Amino acid sequence: MTVQNISTGMIINGKTVEAADKEVFEVLNPANNQIVGVVPNGGKEDAEKAVNAAHGAFPAWKRKTAGERSALIQKWHDLLLDRKEEMAKILVAEAGKTINDARGEVDYAASFLSWFAEEGKRVYGETIPASTTDKRILVINEPIGVVGVITPWNFPAASITKKIGAALAVGCPVVIKPSEYTPIAALKLAELAIEAGIPKGVVNVVMGRANEIGEVFLQDPRIKMISFTGSTKVGKILMRGAADTVTKLSLELGGNAPAIVFDDADLDRAVESVMATKFRNSGQTCVCANRIFVQESIADQFLEKMIDQVSKLKVGTSEDPDADLGPLINEDAYAKIQKHIQDAVSKGATLEYGGDRIEEYENGYFVTPCIISGVNEEMEVWNEETFGPLAPIITFKDEEEAVERANNTPYGLASYAFTENLSRAVRLYEKLDTGIVGINDGLPAAAQAPFGGRKESGIGLEGGHYGLEEFLETKYVSIKLHE
Ligand code: NAP
Repeated sequence: MTVQNISTGMIINGKTVEAADKEVFEVLNPANNQIVGVVPNGGKEDAEKAVNAAHGAFPAWKRKTAGERSALIQKWHDLLLDRKEEMAKILVAEAGKTINDARGEVDYAASFLSWFAEEGKRVYGETIPASTTDKRILVINEPIGVVGVITPWNFPAASITKKIGAALAVGCPVVIKPSEYTPIAALKLAELAIEAGIPKGVVNVVMGRANEIGEVFLQDPRIKMISFTGSTKVGKILMRGAADTVTKLSLELGGNAPAIVFDDADLDRAVESVMATKFRNSGQTCVCANRIFVQESIADQFLEKMIDQVSKLKVGTSEDPDADLGPLINEDAYAKIQKHIQDAVSKGATLEYGGDRIEEYENGYFVTPCIISGVNEEMEVWNEETFGPLAPIITFKDEEEAVERANNTPYGLASYAFTENLSRAVRLYEKLDTGIVGINDGLPAAAQAPFGGRKESGIGLEGGHYGLEEFLETKYVSIKLHE
């Protein structure tokens, strides 16, 4: 891919600017370690400037009608799709996506803008019958104010539009702090927002020293909410910090999704769905199946079919339009897969397929997709999100055991179950303790549906009308009349 040597600035108050102390950092391509671009290494002072800009933009943005905001967000959506190839190339270059995954992400990112552009017109209030005839009770919804947005590298565009499509639609300006690995996609999105006519100061982007920028978000009273997607570890740091200022948080954190395949499933379709949830984005998604439970009676058949499918996956660079998997984001991601395999094998698991570094791409982090069987609760791979193309297989006897073991994790983001038995399907979606359940569906995410986790996977929702509600505050108005 030809995205290389982009030199650009942060976006504050509609302008592209360098960091206050003029520091920069390099963004590297995980496929070959070449420099994709150079961006400012900002910190406290830059974040404060961005908060000033967003705070200044708030009154006018809030006063616009929902229809006016909608038209601008829709225009932004259209521009993003007009520049789909350009954005896809950025995602390939800085996140290491295959070209197909990258194009898919641009469509997914755009779907949130069009959804929220429409749904933002439907922020209603309520009237409630009063207890006496001389009173009227109204409930109105107001934008919460300036939002600090912190996002990860695995969906550099969609993790931003999911949040700011909703924030902007209801009248909140934003300061975005993207991942250090993928800042260029965020800058491109903000440039397109400005080109679409979204007023200066409504969308700001700062990057660099994450803890300093995070501190500004936590301490500045003009930041009314932090919307974060990333690891549970950093989510907990933000939660502790938010206590001092009682800043509202929306947290989309890590997962450890179970996928449960019963002997009454349509096996070929189940394998296809497990493959999709496990290996999309090279296994680097928060909702990817991290533990695959298979009923004992079909375990051999399932494993055989999985090995067959995994062996057909093509790992390659974005130069190869047929590549199914690209590189991992960095050396740590590769090391984590190796550690999970070694730990599991040392405790009795079997490496069934893959797991080797692909030496042909010596400067990138390419690994063959892998399967291990015989996994259990004692292994790291059970307890931690691998965030890579490693499929751990666990066998179980019956439904009760499967549900009990699937729920045996501090995480609660997504789960999947495969069965052709309707009553069992209903029992499962009722018992699985996760915010998202896919029944015979490995790819449930959609702009119009709520997306969020339970337990240590987070607080709050994105998508659907729920996603808008995160950025609204409810006000109760009681009017006493003169009779
Ligand atoms: P991460 O290490 O938690 O980083 C996420 C963001 O937080 C980055 O922008 C990072 O900045 C920033 N950050 C780090 N330390 C911070 C601090 N002290 N204060 C403020 N911000 C700070 O996560 P990641 O490795 O980028 O992403 C992978 C994780 O995200 C996985 O656990 C995955 O499950 C989760 N995820 C969850 C969802 C969901 O919807 N639930 C979706 C996607 C990903 P720097 O990059 O500059 O350090």
